[in-house]
Amino acid sequence: MRALRVAVLGGSIAGLNAALALRDVGCDVDVYERSPRTLEGLGTGIVVQPELVRYFLERTEIGLDRISVASNGMRYYAATDETLLGTADRSWRFTSYNALYQGLVASFGTERYHLGMAFDHFEGDLDGPQASAVFESGEVITADLVVCADGAMSRARRQLFEIGPEYAGYITWRGLVERDGVDGDTWAFFDDEFTYGLLPDGHLITYPIPSVTSDLQVSGRRLNWQWYWNTSGDDELDQLLTDAKGVRQPVSVHNHALPSATLNRLHRRAADQLGPHFRDLVLSSTAPFVTIVADSDVPAMHRGRIVLVGDAGVTPRPHAAAGAAKAAADGWELGAAIASHGGDVDAAIASWEPRQLGRARAYLAKVRRMAGVLQHGGPFAPGDPQNFFGLPDSE
Ligand SMILES: Cc1cc2nc3c(=O)[nH]c(=O)nc-3n(C[C@H](O)[C@H](O)[C@H](O)COP(=O)(O)OP(=O)(O)OC[C@H]3O[C@@H](n4cnc5c(N)ncnc54)[C@H](O)[C@@H]3O)c2cc1C
Repeated sequence: MRALRVAVLGGSIAGLNAALALRDVGCDVDVYERSPRTLEGLGTGIVVQPELVRYFLERTEIGLDRISVASNGMRYYAATDETLLGTADRSWRFTSYNALYQGLVASFGTERYHLGMAFDHFEGDLDGPQASAVFESGEVITADLVVCADGAMSRARRQLFEIGPEYAGYITWRGLVERDGVDGDTWAFFDDEFTYGLLPDGHLITYPIPSVTSDLQVSGRRLNWQWYWNTSGDDELDQLLTDAKGVRQPVSVHNHALPSATLNRLHRRAADQLGPHFRDLVLSSTAPFVTIVADSDVPAMHRGRIVLVGDAGVTPRPHAAAGAAKAAADGWELGAAIASHGGDVDAAIASWEPRQLGRARAYLAKVRRMAGVLQHGGPFAPGDPQNFFGLPDSE
């Protein structure tokens, strides 16, 4: 019997996990990634969840010590005066986008990972027994199964369901600090824990992440931080997302394009609002950048032979640190469903979709509830297990 032909649109966490899982069950898989060059994350952090690293641990030689570092607990401070509000005896491991991506590409190989292939639209019957994707170049790919992993701004989702992400009412600043780039006392304050800094109108988080060499070995440790600002959806948001050339960006303004007035605003607010260690962390960061926070639900994760995985399906906000784990699990479970239905794609989708969609929606509800508390000074009880990280059924 001919192998199922699978096209994956988008070659990041969801796309590569789906490609690996489907290839391993005998499908004939190609990945089409819009970026013309291999993806370079901004080196920021991702909390390790079991689903995120399942492929590495079960199918490769890439162990956790090669891509992540550990912390020893959680602490919750008032960010203004650094009063300790509580602690939790939970330890986590942390990785970085770059380490994950490097490991996934190394596992899939580059031969069938096609860069510079921007999906444009589907043509023909969306609910038919095959699907045809048209790329910006005009090239058309027809496959038995098309896996859309094109992220939060997914073009595929927009065409299938006319849905885009909705602004959540706040942005996040993100930054990194090197070991020798910050005062030793500040480093020691944050190094070994996951730390919350709570404010009446927002919050900060910080945790250590690894630096990783090109052959996937941990070579050092850095501090990763995020600071969430409530921002009205009009002028203030436009100002924060306008780059140095005056262009309003839809998602992020990266550091190299950040106007000095926007950076000054970050520094002024840090000086005005934050206690000494949090302030030092923000002011010592070499390349902070700003990103909008948005989320979306979807009515379904498929039409015909086209499925949505990762952020292209349900896009969650970041507060329970498992968006990437959800993205990885969508692919892993799709591979398992294809195998358990003997390659019957329609039966596989029918069993896969309700479970993944149910789980994604439960996760979306969890992060929206957490956002309400964290961004609006609600009763965020330190150590409350409801607010621990992870997908709902992996807690
Ligand atoms: C501030 C922040 C912090 C976060 N922290 C965490 C965390 O600690 N832990 C965690 O698990 N998750 C975290 N997340 C969530 C996580 O980053 C995402 O959920 C995850 O990256 C989703 O992976 P994805 O592959 O679905 O999408 P993406 O990683 O966004 O990848 C989409 C890919 O599709 C490509 N693409 C886009 N359009 C096209 C097109 N037209 N044609 C072809 N390719 C295309 C893009 O170039 C990209 O490579 C965080 C998110 C944010 C915003």
